[in-house]
This record gives sequence, C-alpha cells and structure tokens, in this order.
Amino acid sequence: MKTVHNFNAGPAMLPPPVLERVQAELRDYRGHGMSIMEFSHRSKEFEAVNNEAETRLKRLLGVGDGWRAIFIQGGASLQFAMLPMNFLPPDGSADYLVTGSWGEKAVEEAKGYGSVQVTSTGPKFDCLPERVSASPSPAYIHLTTNETIQGVQWAHLPDVGSTPLVADMSSDILSRPFDTSRLSLIYAGAQKNLGPSGVTVVVLREELLTKGNKNVPTMLRYTTHVKNASLYNTPPTFAVYVLNLVLSWIEENGGADGMGRRNEAKAKMLYDVIDTGYYVGHAKPECRSRMNVTFRLPDEAAEKKFLSEASASGMVGLAGHRSVGGVRASIYNAVSPESCAVLAELMRDFARRNG
Ligand SMILES: *Cc1c(COP(=O)(O)O)cnc(C)c1O
Repeated sequence: MKTVHNFNAGPAMLPPPVLERVQAELRDYRGHGMSIMEFSHRSKEFEAVNNEAETRLKRLLGVGDGWRAIFIQGGASLQFAMLPMNFLPPDGSADYLVTGSWGEKAVEEAKGYGSVQVTSTGPKFDCLPERVSASPSPAYIHLTTNETIQGVQWAHLPDVGSTPLVADMSSDILSRPFDTSRLSLIYAGAQKNLGPSGVTVVVLREELLTKGNKNVPTMLRYTTHVKNASLYNTPPTFAVYVLNLVLSWIEENGGADGMGRRNEAKAKMLYDVIDTGYYVGHAKPECRSRMNVTFRLPDEAAEKKFLSEASASGMVGLAGHRSVGGVRASIYNAVSPESCAVLAELMRDFARRNG
C-alpha cells in the first residue's frame, strides 16, 4: 500500500486507525449486515452514534450541563451567516476581531444583519490585535482562533467580560486545551481536525438561545437543531459516524491535553528550522500557528523547487494558499510527528544546499 505525508489544509488527513475501522465496519456494521450509511437516521443504531458523538465532543471540550453540541451542514461558511441571523438584532451591533481571511469573510456576511465593529490586523495579517476594545454593548464578539490561510493563532482567548464570545475554531478545535468558560458558541467545519467534510459542529450555551431571533428559516435556526438533537431532517450520517470515531481516537490519545503536547512538539520541529534563517515565517513568532505553518523561501523559483522536491519525497499539500503564496504545512491532529520530522529534515537539507 502506498502512503504519503499528507499536509493538506482541508479536507485533510484522518487518523489511520480511524480509516481502518471504517473499512472493517463498512460492509457489516457491528453484525447488522449493512453499512452505517444504509441505516435510517431515526434508527436506534444511528441515534446511538449521534448521541455518542455529542457526549464525546462535549466531554473533550470540557463543557458540561447547559451546553449542547449539534451536527449540521453548510460548512463553517454557513455559520458566518447563521450566527448574525440568529444573534445580531437589526438595531444591535457585533464586534469582530479579524486576524485573517476567514474572519474577513465572517464580517462580510454579518454586515447584512446589523452594525459591525471591526478590529483588524490586515492586510498583512501576521499578528494579533494589541488591544481588544469593545463597542458599547455588542450582542457578541467574534474571533477566529486559528487563521488557516495566514497561520495566525490566538494563544489564549481574550477576556471579554460578560459579552458572549463566539469562536470559529474550524482549524484548531481540540488541537490543544483552551478555556471554554470564556466562550458562548464555538463552530467548526469537521474537515480539518475532526473528520470528513460534510458535517459542521456547533457547540453552544443553551442560555444563548433565549436571545435568538425567531424570524429565521427553520433550517437556519439553532433552536431547531438543538431541540431535535441534530435530527430535525436527515443529517450527514456517514460524516457524523466518522466524526465520532475521530473523537474517540482523540480521547484514546490523551484528549485536548494529549493533542496539545503532540502538536506543540510537531510545530516546534518546523519553527526551529525556520528560526535558523533561510526561511521567513509569515506570522510573528508570538502568534504563529501550531496548525498551519506558513513560510516563504527567498524567491518564487526556490519555492517551486522546494515544493517539487517535497512532492518527490512523498509530501503532499504543501503549496501556500493562492492569496499568500509560499509554503503552508497544515499539521492537524492526525498528522504524525514522523511526517513533521521528514519535512523538517528536507527543510534543513534544502537550506544547506541552496542557502
Ligand atoms: C476552512 C475554514 C472555513 C471554511 O470552512 P467550510 O467548511 O469550507 O465552509 C472557515 N473558517 C476557518 C478558520 C477555516 O479554516
């Protein structure tokens, strides 16, 4: 069997033991003679998967009673609109802390629903805002914990007092421990750290729902999905099943703490090489991402040569996003320390030969 070192930004690598489990259970799901994909979403078998996934996700995030986790469709991109639709009153305002391209997109969607105050570190997006100054009484404050394209990550969540804090955690959810007590709503497309594409997780405080705008289409109302435990209509059952297996893999590997230690060590291998000088990291050291390591080489010809050597050595997905260029190594939970070591070794060797 051929395997590669997969640095794709999303959809991204899945843990090999999860893929093997999926394969083993595909034709005969636990003695039922058919695959999980072929069950009704109202069957007790799928309901068990759905409930397990919610319980596991909440346990791993360290959120307890008063919180719900739902599994819906439309990607994180639909959340950019669903959030203000539900929680930004027409005469209200919301604050957006923008540290990269995804935050900018979230702002664009929110503008249609109410007034938006933006604190941005653009256009370069290589750092975090120095101060978080809130507008008088925002309905919520939104941030992107990890900007996937620029490789900028909040090391700690800012303290915003009693204002609900909302986080797009698409590219770093469960990659490290973080203080959920500061948050009111978290959303994430699954395809980076949690599973396959097609399912989006939203984890929120139930009390937030009382403030929700009622004049929203049924499918776009958070309450619809909370009240029906993600089973209002047909959910992406296979994606939820794989998500549940990935969550259990995370649990077996030490949960958020275990992932945090593993990911810190992985990122360090790459940043240690960047810090020797030939490569130029995009993000400032104090805010660089442990999930998306973004860097440039001295010129585009060198970048092209580097990417082609990487590809020849079985490394895929390293080209930077078209808006930033250069190289981006996405090293989500499933990417092994061994893959990072192979990349770090190529980086060192390439710099020696070309520096
Ligand atoms: C990938 C990504 C998105 C977009 O996710 P979709 O599921 O494709 O809509 C949004 N925010 C962040 C931080 C991302 O990394």
